[in-house]
Amino acid sequence: MIMAKIGINISTGSLQKAEMIVGIDLGTTNSLVSIIHPETGKPVALKEFNTSSLVPSIVHFGEHGDIVIGEEARQYLESDPQRTIFSAKRLMGKSYNDIKENESFFSYKVIDDDADRLVKVQVDNKFYSPIELSSFILKELKKRAEHILKTPVNKAVITVPAYFNDAQRQATRDAGKLAGLDVLRIVNEPTAASLAYGIGLNKEEEKTIAVYDLGGGTFDISVLRIAGGIFEVLSTNGDTYLGGDDFDKAIVQYWLTQYGITTEELVNNKQLVQALRLRAEEAKKQLSSHDSFEANWNGEQLKISRATFEELIRPLVDKTIASCKNALKDAGLAADEIDTIVMVGGSTRVPAVKNAVSAFFGKPVHDEVNPDEVVALGAGIQADILAGNNKDFLLLDITPLSLGIETMGGLMDVLIPRNAKIPTKAGRQYTTQKDGQGSMRIAVYQGERDLVGDNRKLAEFNLTGIPAMPAGLPKVEVSFLINADGILMVKAKELRSGVEQEIEVKPQYGLTDNEVEKMLLESITHAQSDMQTRALVEARTEAEQILDVTEKFLSKNAALVSSEELAQTNTAIQSLREALASEDKDLIHKKVEELNEISRPFAERAMDEAVSGALKGKKI
Ligand code: AMP
Repeated sequence: MIMAKIGINISTGSLQKAEMIVGIDLGTTNSLVSIIHPETGKPVALKEFNTSSLVPSIVHFGEHGDIVIGEEARQYLESDPQRTIFSAKRLMGKSYNDIKENESFFSYKVIDDDADRLVKVQVDNKFYSPIELSSFILKELKKRAEHILKTPVNKAVITVPAYFNDAQRQATRDAGKLAGLDVLRIVNEPTAASLAYGIGLNKEEEKTIAVYDLGGGTFDISVLRIAGGIFEVLSTNGDTYLGGDDFDKAIVQYWLTQYGITTEELVNNKQLVQALRLRAEEAKKQLSSHDSFEANWNGEQLKISRATFEELIRPLVDKTIASCKNALKDAGLAADEIDTIVMVGGSTRVPAVKNAVSAFFGKPVHDEVNPDEVVALGAGIQADILAGNNKDFLLLDITPLSLGIETMGGLMDVLIPRNAKIPTKAGRQYTTQKDGQGSMRIAVYQGERDLVGDNRKLAEFNLTGIPAMPAGLPKVEVSFLINADGILMVKAKELRSGVEQEIEVKPQYGLTDNEVEKMLLESITHAQSDMQTRALVEARTEAEQILDVTEKFLSKNAALVSSEELAQTNTAIQSLREALASEDKDLIHKKVEELNEISRPFAERAMDEAVSGALKGKKI
C-alpha cells in the first residue's frame, strides 16, 4: 500500500501532509495516475488492490442522470452506444469541421449545428463539451487517487500528445480545472515516456531519441532532442486512427472469412460482434507470448497462428514505419542518428511491432517499462520535480507558426518566428500615431503572411490610459511570452507612464496539422506578391507620416519658413499625395525623398522633440 508522507507541526501538534502532486496520463483509450513512492523514490501507477491501474477513458450517462466512468462505463459500449462516450480526447479543442471526416467513428451524437464552433456531444437533451467529458474522467482519477493515498489530491501534471496545439493544451488544462485540479504543467507524452526511462534527468546527457507510441486507437512517433535537461520536439508524425483495435478487427475479418460467417448474420446481433471482437483481442494478446491461439466460440473452434496474425497486420505495421521515415525526414536525421528508441502503448507488446521498429532503426528498442504505464510514470516524475523534490528543468517545444501583432497599414510584425523553441519571450517597442492618443489597439496574429488579413487572428485588446503626449513620444513595449505549456501571454506597457495591460491568449479552437501546412504553403506561394504589398504599404505609411509631420510643422512654425520655401513645400506635398494614390512604391519613395530634401533645412532649424520623436519607432 502507498501512503503519503505525513509531517507533524511541532508548534501546533497538528498533522501536516506533504503536498501531493500526481502525474496523470489522460489517454484516448485509458487513463491512469502515478506518484513517486515515498519510500522507494520510484514512480508507481496507482491502483486498488487486485485491480488494474488503467481506467478506461469512457463515460456512461444513465437514463436517470447517473454517471459512471471507466470499466463500469465500458460495459455499455455495445448495449447503450448513444450514452457511452469514448475517445473524448479526439474531440478536445476541435470544431465539427475538424472531425466531420471521421464522424462515423463516434457512435454517439456529435452536434454539427455550427461547424466552426467547438464541438459538443449530445446525450438526451443535454450537451457536453469535450472539456467537461474529460473533466469527468479526471474527477474519477482524482477520487480514486484520494481513496488510495488517503489524502486530498489537488495538483497534477497532465500529459498530452506532442502534436497537440495551443487550443488542445488549453482544453486539457481547463478540464483539469473543472475537475478541481490545479494543473501545474502540461507535459508532452513522449517527454514523459523518456523521463520514465531516466532519459534527460542527467543534465550532461545529450541524446536524440524516438518515441514510438502505438495504443488502442492511435499511433504517433516523435523525435526528441535532449540536451542540458531540455527536451525539444524535433518532429512528430503518426495516424490518429490506427492502433491495436485495427489488429483486433483484422483478426475478426480473418475468422469471418475462415468460418464463412456472413456480415449480415452479425449486423443484427451486436452482442455476437462484441463477443467475437473480445475473442480477437484475447487472441492478439496471447499471440504476444504464444505461437497459436485456439478457443471455442458459438460452436466454432476459432484458431489463429502467430504467423498468420503477423501477416494480417503487416500492412498496418508498415504504415507506422512509413510514419517513422517521415518523422526522421522532418527532423533532418538518418535512422542511425537516433540513439534510443522508446516503446509506448499496449500494442507495442506485439513482437512483430517491436521487431519492425528495431529493424528500421537498426538497434534494439527500450521496452522494459510497462508500455501502458510509461507515460503516467514519467508524468509522476515531472510532478515530483515540480514539487521541488528534484531539480526543475525546462521542457521545450516549437511554435508551428509565427506570432506577431498588426502594425500600421495592416502589416504583420512578427515577434516570435515560426519554429522558435518554447518557452520563449520576445518584446518590441511601438509608439503612437496621433497626438494625445490615449489608447492603442494590440491585435495578435498567427501566420506567415505579410498582411495580417491573410493570417489568423488570435486576440485583440486595448491598452488604455496612455497619458496625453505628442505622437511618437509614448514608448509602448509589447511583449510575448510563451510558457512551457505553449500558452501565449501578451503584455503591453507604456514605459513612460507605467500603464499596462495583459492577456492570456486562448484561441477559439486550434489549427489542425493540415491547416498549419496549408498556411505555410500559402506563405510560400504568395511570398513574391506579399513582399511587394509589404513594400507598398511601408512606403505609403512612411509617406503619410512625413505628410502629417510636415503639415503639423508648417502650421506651428509658419514664422520659420520663407514664402518661397512654403510654396516649394506645398508643391512637393501635392505631388506626394498624387503618388500616394498610385500603386507605385518607387514613385512614392521618390516623392518622399523630394519632400524630405525641401523640408529638411527648416526642420533642422527647429528640432522639435515631438517631430523627431514622431519619425522614430513603428506606429500601431
Ligand atoms: P493503450 O491505448 O496504450 O492502453 O493500448 C491498448 C492497446 O494495447 C489495446 O489495443 C490492447 O488490446 C493492446 N494490448 C494490451 N496488451 C497487449 C498484449 N499483450 N499484446 C498485444 N496487444 C496488447
